[in-house]
Amino acid sequence: MSKNGTILDHNKLFEDDKYVWQRERKREFENACPEEEVLQTAAYTRSREYLDKNFERQAVVVNPAKACQPLGAVMAALGFEKTLPFIHGSQGCAAYFRSHFARHFKEPVPAVSSSMTEDGAVFGGMRNLIDGLETSIALYKPAMIAMSTTCMAEVIGDDLSAFIGNARKEGVLPEGMPIPFANTPSFSGSHITGYDNMLKAILGYLYERSDERSIAAAGGKQLNVLLGFEPYTGNFAELKRLLELFGAEYTVLGDHSENFDSGADGSYAYYYGGTRLADVPTAAKAKGSLALQKYSLRKTIAYMEEAWGQRIQAMHTPLGIGATDRLLEAIAGLTGKPIPQSLLAERARTVDALTDSHNYLHGKRVAMAGDPDLLLGLIGFCLELGMEPVHIVCSNGDSEFEQEARLLLDASPYGAEAKVHVGRDLWHMRSLLFNEPVDLAVGSSHLKYAAKEAGVPLLRIGFPIFDRHHLQRYPVIGYQGALNLLTMFVNTVLEQLDGQAPAHSFDLVR
Ligand code: SF4
Repeated sequence: MSKNGTILDHNKLFEDDKYVWQRERKREFENACPEEEVLQTAAYTRSREYLDKNFERQAVVVNPAKACQPLGAVMAALGFEKTLPFIHGSQGCAAYFRSHFARHFKEPVPAVSSSMTEDGAVFGGMRNLIDGLETSIALYKPAMIAMSTTCMAEVIGDDLSAFIGNARKEGVLPEGMPIPFANTPSFSGSHITGYDNMLKAILGYLYERSDERSIAAAGGKQLNVLLGFEPYTGNFAELKRLLELFGAEYTVLGDHSENFDSGADGSYAYYYGGTRLADVPTAAKAKGSLALQKYSLRKTIAYMEEAWGQRIQAMHTPLGIGATDRLLEAIAGLTGKPIPQSLLAERARTVDALTDSHNYLHGKRVAMAGDPDLLLGLIGFCLELGMEPVHIVCSNGDSEFEQEARLLLDASPYGAEAKVHVGRDLWHMRSLLFNEPVDLAVGSSHLKYAAKEAGVPLLRIGFPIFDRHHLQRYPVIGYQGALNLLTMFVNTVLEQLDGQAPAHSFDLVR
C-alpha cells in the first residue's frame, strides 16, 4: 500500500523508497558484484560462445520444462470418483503438487501426504503411512485412495505393498477399500511418467480385483478414451462433444476435468466427478480404446493391450486439421459410424479461418517447449500454416519422440531448419532464442523470462500456465481447438505488428 493508502500493483509497489532502500542495503550486506559486472556477465550469457558452452553442460539442469513423477500421479488419481491422492513422502512435495495445480487450474486440490520427516527417513515411513491412511479415511471419507511416492520414500526403499498390507492387518482400512499404488521416483521420468504409472496401477487394481462373471454380464461400452496428462479441462469437454455427435457410447478412463473445474455455489466438496470405479472393470470389454497422448500413456496402453486384449488407437495430441481428421477417422473406425455432417461443416469453417489468417503466419519462425505429445501436435499445426518450427525443446522426450518429430518435420519444406533438442531445458532455449532468433515462442509460463529477455512474444500453451487466466478452459484439440490456437497465434502477430507500426501505417483493418 502506498503512503496515501492506495493499493498498488507490485510493478509500482517496489518502486517505493522503502523497497529501493531495502534492495540497496541487501546488495551491500551480500557484498554483491558491481552492477556493471552483472550486466557484462548477463551479456556474455547471451553470446554464441556461451551457447556452445551451455550445450556442453552435462551435470546441471536449469529450468527444465517438466515436473516430477508424483505430480502426474496426483492428476491421474483425481481422474476417478471419490479418490484421494495420497503421497507417501514429505509434506513439502505434496504442497508443491497442490500449489502447482491450484495455480494452473485456479482450483483447490485435495491431496494428502504421509508427512515423513527426518525420523521417517531413518527408520522408514510405515508408521506415517498407516497413521496417514487412518486419518485420511476418517476426515475425507474417500471411496478409493491412490498412493504414489516421493524421492525420499524411494531412496530409502519403502515397500508400499507391505505397508498397505500391514495397514489392512491393523484394521485401519475399511473392508474392500481399493488402495492402488505406484512407485513414482522423481529422479527418473517426469510428470507424464508418474501419470502413466498411477493410471496403469488404478486400472490394473480395479480390473484384477473384480469379478470376471459380472464384468462379462455387464459387457462393455463401445469405446474407452484416455486423454493422458491433460492440462486443458476444455479438451475433455471438446472430446465428449465430438463423441456425442457420433452418438458413441464411451468411458473416459481418467476424467479429472470436474475436479479441476468445480463451480462456486457456496458449498465445497472434496470430490467432483471422475470416472466411476465400477466402470473400470467393464471398460476391459469395450470394442476398442482411443489414447490421445501416446507418450504419456505408454505403460497404460501396453497394459490394456496385454491384460485386456484391447485394440488401441494411440495418437499424439490432435492439434490442427490433419490430426483432427485422424482423430475423427479413428472414432469412426471404432464406432462403425460415419463422420457427422456437422463436423464436416465445422472443418470447412476452420479451414476457411486458417486461410483468412495464414498470410500473417506463413514463414513465421517458432520456438516451442513442452511435453512430447503436445509438441508433436504443435509441430503439425505450425506446418499446416506454413510456420517454421525452429527450436523444439523437449526436456522429457526420448529418441522415439525425436525420431517421430524429425519424420514430421522432414515431410514438410517448413520443417527444414528445425532442430529437436531432447533432454534440454529452458536455459538452453534461452541461448537459442538469443542466437538464432524466432518470431514466436510457445510454451508454459516458465518460458516467459527467456522470451521476454529475447523480445519474443510468448504464446502460453501447455502446463503449467500460472500467469494468465482461464486458458485451460478453451480446448486446443479438434477443429474448435484449431480455431482457438489460430486465434492465439494470429492475434499475437497482429498485436506485434501494431506495436511496431509507425504512426503513418497504424492500420485499422488487417
Ligand atoms: S523432485 Fe522429489 S523432492 Fe522434489 S518435489 Fe518431486 S518428489 Fe519431492
